[in-house]
Formats: sequence, C-alpha cells, structure tokens
Amino acid sequence: MTEAMHVETDVLVIGAGGAGMYAAIEAARNGANVLVLDRSLIGRGGATVMAQMTVAVALGAEAPDHWSHHLKDTLEAGRGLCDERLARLLCEHAPACIQEMDAWGVGWARKNGHITQVMAPGHDRPRCVYVDFLNTGPAVSKTLRTVVNRTAGIHKTGDLLIIDLVRVDGEVAGAVALHLPSGAPVTIAARATVIATGGLTRLYRRNSASTNMGGDGYALALRAGAPLVDMEFVQFFPIGHLAPRLIGMDPIMWDPFRYKLGGRLLNGRGEEFTSRYGSNEDGRYVLTRDLATYAIMKEVEAGRGSPHGGAYLSFQHCSESELRNAFGPVIDRLAANHIDLTKTPIEVAPIAHYHMGGVVADDRMQTDISGLFVAGEAVGGANGANRLSGNAITEAFVFGRRAGRSAAERAKLSRMQMFQSGAAREAVDLLTPKDRKDINTAAMIEALQATMADDVGPFRTQDKLVRALRVIGELAGALGTHPVGDGGAFDLQRLDWFDLRNMLLVAQSVAQAALRRIESRGAHQREDFPGLLPEWGVNQVIRSDAGGLALTSVPALEAAAAQ
Ligand SMILES: Cc1cc2nc3c(=O)[nH]c(=O)nc-3n(C[C@H](O)[C@H](O)[C@H](O)COP(=O)(O)OP(=O)(O)OC[C@H]3O[C@@H](n4cnc5c(N)ncnc54)[C@H](O)[C@@H]3O)c2cc1C
Repeated sequence: MTEAMHVETDVLVIGAGGAGMYAAIEAARNGANVLVLDRSLIGRGGATVMAQMTVAVALGAEAPDHWSHHLKDTLEAGRGLCDERLARLLCEHAPACIQEMDAWGVGWARKNGHITQVMAPGHDRPRCVYVDFLNTGPAVSKTLRTVVNRTAGIHKTGDLLIIDLVRVDGEVAGAVALHLPSGAPVTIAARATVIATGGLTRLYRRNSASTNMGGDGYALALRAGAPLVDMEFVQFFPIGHLAPRLIGMDPIMWDPFRYKLGGRLLNGRGEEFTSRYGSNEDGRYVLTRDLATYAIMKEVEAGRGSPHGGAYLSFQHCSESELRNAFGPVIDRLAANHIDLTKTPIEVAPIAHYHMGGVVADDRMQTDISGLFVAGEAVGGANGANRLSGNAITEAFVFGRRAGRSAAERAKLSRMQMFQSGAAREAVDLLTPKDRKDINTAAMIEALQATMADDVGPFRTQDKLVRALRVIGELAGALGTHPVGDGGAFDLQRLDWFDLRNMLLVAQSVAQAALRRIESRGAHQREDFPGLLPEWGVNQVIRSDAGGLALTSVPALEAAAAQ
C-alpha cells in the first residue's frame, strides 16, 4: 500500500463553490479550524463562478415582498414535492445572506439608491438581484474568495480530489483524497465534514456545467451510507445556446437577455408557439423552465424546429441602443462572434443545467450520517420537482452558511478525532497504481453522456430507461474495481476512472428513480405516463445496499425525517 500524507482539521469542506466557501467562512467564524479544498482551483471550479444573473431573495427593495411569498412561489414550482423545511430555510434566510454579500462588496446592481430586483419566471414580483453585466457568478466567487482569504482559521488547497469518505463506528471521520499534481494519496481526519460538491450535469452530452460536475458528492454520500432524494429531477435549461458558433461565452447567457429584454421564442417557421403548451409569452419572459423545455422539444419533434434542432430566440425587435443599454460590453463580444442581434435570431435548445435531487438533510444540513453535512446544489429536496430561477445561488449561500455553523458546533462537541487509518485503507489502496490501461475512459464518458441525453433526458419512457440502465451496467462492468493509468502527476486517465466510478453510480440513481416514477411532474416527463398523479405526490429516497441501489417512497415533506 502507498503511504498516505495525513492532515487533521476540525471541519473539512469538500468543494469551494458558493456553498463551500460560505460554509468555510461560517465554520471559521464559529471557532473551527477549517480546511476547504477543491479538485480544481479555489472558487473557480464549479457552477458558482459560471452563474450569470439572478439570485432570488425577498428583499422588497423594488416592490413590497416577504419571504413567505418567495416560499409560496418556490413550493408551487416544486409541484408538491419540496421539502418545506428546507425551502422555508432557503427563503427566510436569503435576505440576511444577500445583505451580508452586499456588505462584503459583491456589487449588486443598484437603481435610485436601492438594490435592483427584476422579475423572473415563476416569481410573483420583482425578486431577483444580480451583478451587471452578466457578472453575478464571477463577482460572487471573487467576494467569497476575498473573505475566505482574510478569515483566520481557514486553510485552503486546490487540486485535491476527494475519492471517498472515511467512516468509523458509523460516523464520518474524514476523507481520502488524490493529490492531482503528484498522484499521491492524502488522508484527512475531520471532526465534521461538509459535502459542497455541486451538481451532476456533466452526466449529459449537452450541459451548461464545468467538467467538475459529475455528481461526486452524491456518490460520496451514497457510498458512506447517506440517502439521496428526488434523483429523477434533473433540470434542463430550455434556451441553451445552439447556433451560430459562440466562443468564450456562456451557453446560458440568453436567460439574462430574456429577463431584461423579453425576446421572442419562435419555431422554425417563425411562429410564436408557447401558447400551444399553455403559456402565452407574447414577448415577455414568463414560461417556467420545465414548460419551456417541453414546448421546444415538442416543436422539434413535430418537425417545426430550427435548422440545428432547437428554436429561434429573436431580439430583432430591440434597437442597437436598447441592447447596448442592457448589456454594454457583451454586445461587442457577440459582434466578435459575428452575431448581430438586431439582424438575426440565434438558435437555442434545452441543455442539462441543475439538479433538484441530492443528499437528504435536516434543517441543520446534517445528513443521515453523524459527522456529515451537506450544502448547496448537493442538497436534495428544497426545490422539489422543479427549481425557481435564482434559487440555486441563494441555496448555496443559505445552506452553506447553515452547514458551516452546524459543522463547527459538531466539531466543538466531539473533542477528539475519530479517524483510524485502517478505515481509510480500502480507499488508499485504490490510489496504489497497478498500471492498468485496458479501457478507453474518455470514450466511456462519451458513451455515458450520450445514453443519459438520449434515454434519460427531458422525455423518458420505460423502454429508454431500461436501455439506459443496461448500458450503465455494462459500462460499470467494463470499468472494473481498480483504476487505470500509471498514477503519475495529473494522470488524466486515472482521473477519468474516478470520475466514471461516481458518474455511473449517480447515473444509475437518476435512471432508477426515473423508471420507478410512473407519472410526469416538473422536470421529470414520462411520455408513457403523461400527467401528474396524486398518488405520486411522494419523494423517492435512494440508499446503497448490498444488492445495489434501493428506492423507497416517502410522503412529501417527510423526506428529511426518513433518516
Ligand atoms: C452556467 C451556469 C449558470 C447559472 N446561472 C445561475 C443563476 O443565474 N442563478 C442561480 O441561482 N443559479 C445559477 N446556476 C446554478 C448555480 O450556479 C449552482 O447551483 C450553484 O452555484 C451551486 O453552488 P455550489 O457551491 O453548490 O456548487 P459549485 O459552485 O458547482 O461548486 C462545487 C465545487 O466542488 C468541487 N468538487 C466537486 N467534486 C469534488 C471532489 N470530489 N473533490 C473536491 N472538490 C470537488 C468543484 O470543483 C467545484 O468547485 C447556474 C449554473 C450554471 C452551470
């Protein structure tokens, strides 16, 4: 067995996106010694830094508002499946986090001296704050990085991939990591561990995510014995950029354009079509994400799609000065890509964007397993079957802060480290190179992404899901139980192997939950079971057991209590 480097901390935070950095700050403010680490660079690796615009919060700066109105909209969007305690926590504590970010200098856009709040689909009033121009995520990440840097008690490191949690006497006592620059194993003893690893959209061929979002946290939790909930609900972002070619810009950048300028969604024949699917947009942006995804895909299926298989989004009704007023320098970046919005519409189509499902947590962000907490997109249940625009960054802040505080409290109570090197042996063994090279991991990742996109995408059937589970099983068989690669510095084949190990487990949980839910609700649409069924007003909880993954149904709102 390779000798592992060993470190000890009070609180280990896995993942340095919005949730992880907020958790680290709050844990340190509550007296804990914190190690926040990331497989990528601190504050630059996941979705937070890529997010562009809206952050939902009932500040009431633009129009009178109260968190209970935000909660009502969140529950409605969740189609009856939200874990109400988590949704309430999200809405009630959002104003404090947004104001704290303001005090830290994030730079929320302001109008007439107050923070600007805009309308977004599914919200009953202007509720979304942002940083201009298309700069919300970068500004949020930079602000949190700055606060992390100046907060005493936080140690941080990038390029460290957590491959497994370590359990001692049924409690999480730390983790095992792969140090990517050297290929060496690292063991970490922690009194409390926070999973803040973000979502899973890398499972899909077309996605808005970074390559770090293959669902690591869900797999870590499952293997450690913590249950997941709502895994069938993957949110597809309806208007991801499709054509013409766009370099150096974000594929979901058209969302902010729609918030500010409306835009017209047209089919391949140039007709507005959303009224066919129950919502008359009429140039405004009111269609929720699940309905918009459905409408675009159905138009394409009916042979009325745009040339590349999506829909047109047109801002031709806007003048050059309106566009510049709203998006300033972004218009020049579009021009460099030969896109003039006053002359031509662009093509858009649904892409995998966010995951509603995740690790079951109580309102302290404590999972089913002592010593293990969770934050941000890795948490399941708050958004039910469909997430409202802007709720994801809010949940990263609120759940991150909560998890950090709870983890610090736990660290104070458990005075000694429980970590035992024997409990980490199996994971450390995985990091001992055996120079296996018999599979093409890159091709396997592509095959998985294609299967997930084609058979576990926005529209599902029993046949497609059964086929997907078969392919996932075959890929898992080919993957084997020991990594490929020579174990050297930045061994990408070995990294692929660890990614696939997680992606396949998480893909299986999504497909299995989707197969079992025989109705259509929110982001889960079954073509063979159209329509929502009252008896399916339940959450599905998944656990890993000796026989594989086991699913149970629990009444909505009680998912978090099913521990
Ligand atoms: C392009 C894009 C635009 C978006 N726009 C918006 C928006 O406008 N408004 C909104 O509310 N939401 C938006 N979202 C969603 C929102 O950004 C995310 O849900 C949120 O930022 C997630 O924060 P997080 O901290 O939970 O995870 P992330 O920010 O994704 O951070 C997770 C971190 O964990 C690290 N990590 C993962 N696995 C491991 C491992 N095994 N070991 C070590 N580190 C690991 C990753 O490298 C990453 O840095 C957007 C998402 C995308 C992709």
